[in-house]
Amino acid sequence: MAINSILKNSTPKLIALISSSIFAISTLLVFIICKILFTGMPGWLIIIAATILIFAIGYIVVYSLVERFIYRKIKLIYKSISDTKLSTKDTPLKSNMKNVNLIEDAEVAVLNWQKTKIKELNKQKKLDKYRKEFLGNVFHELKTPLFNIQGYLETLIEGGIYDEKINLKFAKKASKNVKRMAKIVEDLQMIANLQDASFVLAAEKFDITELVKDIIESLEVRAKKKKNKLEIKEGCNQSFSVIADREMIHQVLNNLIINALKYGKENGKTQIGLYDMNENVLIEVSDNGIGMDKDQLSRIFERFYRIDKNRSRKLGGTGLGLSIVKHIIEVHNQTINVRSTPGVGSTFGFTLKKA
Ligand code: ADP
Repeated sequence: MAINSILKNSTPKLIALISSSIFAISTLLVFIICKILFTGMPGWLIIIAATILIFAIGYIVVYSLVERFIYRKIKLIYKSISDTKLSTKDTPLKSNMKNVNLIEDAEVAVLNWQKTKIKELNKQKKLDKYRKEFLGNVFHELKTPLFNIQGYLETLIEGGIYDEKINLKFAKKASKNVKRMAKIVEDLQMIANLQDASFVLAAEKFDITELVKDIIESLEVRAKKKKNKLEIKEGCNQSFSVIADREMIHQVLNNLIINALKYGKENGKTQIGLYDMNENVLIEVSDNGIGMDKDQLSRIFERFYRIDKNRSRKLGGTGLGLSIVKHIIEVHNQTINVRSTPGVGSTFGFTLKKA
């Protein structure tokens, strides 16, 4: 117990001092004992017996002190790198005490710990950067309509309200900007809900082909305005029953088809195809519009990413549509992909589980 408490705060100097003191005292004692016990024996025999005894005592003393010292120090290292509290009983070192690789094992453990910490730190840094960028984007996107509203309201308050030429026009413009802000907040809320671990899908069985037909019908006026031919691809209109959240898939198809119309050509074509893939159905929305470069394809599902910001804003986009689409497909445990060629067109395809 006493040795244990001394070892707790020991240093190599103290260990050397204790071991050499024990060694010196035991040498003296051994010589005295040998002198008494072996009187009358030849001197060389007494020297051999004393040497053997001193060697044995020295070995036991040095070994146990050094072992305990190293064990304590390495246990301290394990304690500081371990996430869990290590008891003396279950410390991994206890069973390794006789292991000649004790120090190497501790070194490997520390290096592994260092690697894990570096990984965690890099992940944290990435997350921080992502958060900062995201907050910057939210601020930027809300700032423009907010300042516009402020400008219109101040002009109206400063007398514009009595000017018949501008009062209604400015009120309408302010209202349009409020709607834009509300749409951004609504879309962000939707993404936050989809990212929430407690989010539950309202999955049901429904005919996806019927849903596509309904959406085509509801967007007919919009397509006609753009002189765009919106239809189900010939030969790809087979009926399929799927298990999914109908309302959410409605939003996915709506977003993809509206994008196809927004970024499609005048007098162009938007086609929807449904394909049997054994357990799943593949639904593709294709346009022959402006298309996208290969390096832009990996980014279009990011929040607020737009290839041409001005064009997107003019068309009423928030840059959140495809991010919502991707999140919805992901909560269904399905996949979405895109193929596109600039000037030729784009095809977005996603899968759904067949009922
Ligand atoms: P937005 O509100 O800007 O339409 P989205 O998230 O829906 O935002 O799309 C992100 C960007 O991806 C768009 O700004 C556009 O640049 C590009 N994009 C999306 N769909 C198409 C498409 N069918 N053809 C060409 N570009 C597209």
